[in-house]
Parts: sequence; structure tokens; C-alpha cells
Amino acid sequence: MRKKPYNEIKITLPAIAENEAVCRGCICQFAAKADPTVTELADIRCAVSEAVTNCVVHAYRGGAGYIYINARLYDDGKLTVKIADKGCGIPDVALAMTPLYTTDKDGERSGMGFAIMQSFCDRLKVTSKVGAGTVVFMEKYLKR
Ligand code: ATP
Ligand code: MG
Repeated sequence: MRKKPYNEIKITLPAIAENEAVCRGCICQFAAKADPTVTELADIRCAVSEAVTNCVVHAYRGGAGYIYINARLYDDGKLTVKIADKGCGIPDVALAMTPLYTTDKDGERSGMGFAIMQSFCDRLKVTSKVGAGTVVFMEKYLKR
């Protein structure tokens, strides 16, 4: 039987640049209750920031849309964060997750967002459907 989280947060907010700080702040505040180390908290902040930035920059291609976040805390110290959008989707997720791969044409992006998320989480799963959106699911164990 699956264990239930002892705490959970759901946030839905517009995919605009100002909300990147709001999202990482909220999730770090949420995770802080589980008494993570400073390093763990910095990892979470960075991973959430990359996923949310992708919603802002890529998902809606400059148009309007929402970011849907769900974070959960479990008794064994596991934190899960799901960051979803209903944007354009990713045609080839494996390719998109390759370090240095970017579809950005004006040279502002380095194509390292997914690689950063991967290195700061214990597990990263990305699912996406073209025209329907993308879901980024992260798991991190807070050692305490
Ligand atoms: P960086 O994150 O280093 O600024 P980047 O955003 O291009 O650059 P990644 O975050 O690794 O790099 O993403 C790789 C590519 O995957 C993006 O260039 C984009 O094409 C696609 N992508 C990522 N997230 C989304 C999303 N939520 N919706 C649509 N496409 C996405
Ligand atoms: Mg990115």
C-alpha cells in the first residue's frame, strides 16, 4: 500500500517571470518544515526554479497560461514536487533532456535546465504530450 503524505501544497499561478521567485519561495518554505540541510534546500530551490522557468519560457511560447504545482512530504523524508503546464508540449523528451540541447534561437539559454534538475534531485521524470503540456516530477530525500 502507498504511504500517504503528511503534508501537501497545491499552487496554480500564471506562467509569468515574476512567479518563478514565488514558486521557489513557496516550495522551499513548504520543504523547510521537514528540516532539510542548507544544501538540500538550495538544491530544491534550483531544481524548482529551472522547471518553473521552462513553463514561463517554453511552454506557452510567450502567450498566457498557468503553472500547476503540487508538492508532498512523506514520513520517510521524501519530498515530491510536480510542476506541470498545459502548453505546447515536448516532441522528444529524451532529446530535450540531453545536456546542452536547447530550442532557444537567440542564444540566451544554455540547454542545461533538465541536467540541473537531474543533478539536484534523487529522481526526475518528465512526461509530455505535444499540444497538451508537460509534467516534471521530482523526488528528493531529505536526510535530516
Ligand atoms: P536553460 O534551462 O539552460 O536556460 P533550456 O530551457 O533551453 O535552457 P532545458 O531546460 O534543459 O534547457 O530544456 C531543454 C528544451 O526542452 C528547451 O529548449 C525546450 O525546447 C524544451 N522544454 C523544456 N521544458 C519545456 C516545457 N515546459 N514546455 C515545452 N518545452 C519545454
Ligand atoms: Mg530551461
